[in-house]
Amino acid sequence: MGKRRISKKEKERINAILERLDQKYSREYKCYLNHENPWQLLIATMLSAQCTDARVNMVTKDLFQKYKSVEDFANAEISELEQDIHSTGFYKNKARNIIACCRRILTEYGGEVPKSIEDLTSLAGVGRKTANVIRGNIYHEPSIVVDTHVKRISNKLGFTNESDPEKIEFELMEILPKDHWILYNIQIITHGRTICTARSPKCDMCFLSDLCRKKG
Ligand code: SF4
Repeated sequence: MGKRRISKKEKERINAILERLDQKYSREYKCYLNHENPWQLLIATMLSAQCTDARVNMVTKDLFQKYKSVEDFANAEISELEQDIHSTGFYKNKARNIIACCRRILTEYGGEVPKSIEDLTSLAGVGRKTANVIRGNIYHEPSIVVDTHVKRISNKLGFTNESDPEKIEFELMEILPKDHWILYNIQIITHGRTICTARSPKCDMCFLSDLCRKKG
């Protein structure tokens, strides 16, 4: 992947957008998926595919009472786990992946959620998005999570023209300073839920309106 050339003017525009995001949404790190430890966040993130964070939080409230460890998930009865996570959708795949993933964490990683992107993405059902959630939130390694909001709004802002999440991730890594990699996702989720919504972006009341390309 070739390095993108960015003009001085474009760099200024990007920095101005980031400054306003910091002012509006703060630089506070927060995670929208409730969890108390790394493996809970891993499972919650796996459940969040094609599902809202609110729904996942409802499901994990009971789920983590019932399954209290990686071992519990590794030894789960698949049909029972399918029922337990049914309302998050794609429950058959998710249940199969969660069990396989937890078994491998036990056999390969001594029960600890691994840290490197290579090890994380080698786990069943863990793609770059899930791996980056873990790296950013648990290990505080600079990482960019490309979810539906980041994908949509990065296109609108003119930060990328890509639709493939992995390509978007690499493009954003080239133009965003590392201290914004984790924050960008957190801030853009809030922006996407409140102002730049998928159905009807409120451009007339958006604090980024004069800087935004409003594409897509
Ligand atoms: S100006 Fe419109 S398209 Fe651009 S970020 Fe704001 S709401 Fe989204």
